[in-house]
Order: sequence, then structure tokens, then C-alpha cells
Amino acid sequence: MSQAFGSVGLSWVKAHAGIPGNELADHYAKTAICEGEDLFVPAPYSYLKKYINKLIVTDWQRHWEGSHTGIRVREYVPTVDLKLLTHNRLLLFLVSGHGPFPSYLFRFKLLNSPNCVCGGLGTPDHFVFDCPFTLNFHMTLPTDNNKSFWFKSVLKNEGSCLGSNKFVKFLIVFAQS
Ligand SMILES: [Zn+2]
Repeated sequence: MSQAFGSVGLSWVKAHAGIPGNELADHYAKTAICEGEDLFVPAPYSYLKKYINKLIVTDWQRHWEGSHTGIRVREYVPTVDLKLLTHNRLLLFLVSGHGPFPSYLFRFKLLNSPNCVCGGLGTPDHFVFDCPFTLNFHMTLPTDNNKSFWFKSVLKNEGSCLGSNKFVKFLIVFAQS
């Protein structure tokens, strides 16, 4: 081919029209399918990246489903997804239940009662959806079936009230009072 440089070119021809060169190419293509040897073609970087990413996420999902911890988080994040990773402190407090909440601090004997000063159980849901003292920070309570959609929506709008540290600071002061 390299010696034929300048005298070889590509052009479109009508298929299956009895053109000898095209018929010969078809013949060799069919022969290669039936009798050909495997040809090693290095995969492009983009394909490998996508392939490895898929393997990791599949393995992560399997681990996530088989885990005996994180039951509360799984209500909000039933399916693992790199896009759902966040450093938003409040959101992590809320979905994990591990944060400056009386119900959590009480478990570690850091507070004498698991209750909020309003009398309700001091869980994350109480402060975010229910407590009269945090009324200005309340969010719409999702149904059990909508928790994952709710989480994705909140994550998308991190710039809103959930993105500010104002609520976290308020909770910390509130929990310590
Ligand atoms: Zn309360």
C-alpha cells in the first residue's frame, strides 16, 4: 500500500451491483467473519475509562445493597451515582442522621434528652420539616417514595438555604442550648 501511494484512493460504489472489486471485498468480508482470526485492536482511552467507571459503579452498587449500615441514607440514595457525591455538611447531616441533633447526641450521652426544646423528638427530620423553632428553614417533606427525587433536587439547588451554613450554625447552637 505504501508503495502505491498516490495511485490508490477511496470512492463510493453501489453495493451488490455486480461490480467485481466490490463483490470480491464482500466475499473476503464474509470469509473473515466465518474463518477469520481474532485481531487485537487496542481499545481507546475513552472506552477504557467508561468501561472501568461502569465496573466500579456496579461493584459499588452491589456493596451498597449488601451493606447492613446506612439504612437511612439508602432511603434518600437507593442507587449509587458519582453525581450524588456532596460535601454539603447539612445535607450529609440530614440524610445520615449524624449531626448536631439531640436524638443523635443523646445516643452518645452528650445530651440528657433526645428531645427538642419544643417537645418533639430531636431528629434531623424534625428540624428540617417540623420544628416550630426552625420554621424559617423548613423544607417540603418528601413522601417515602419521593425521597430519592427530593435528594437529587436538593443537591441540584445547593445554592439555596441548604447550601448556607446559617442553618448548621443555628442547629449547633440550638442543640447545645
Ligand atoms: Zn422542635
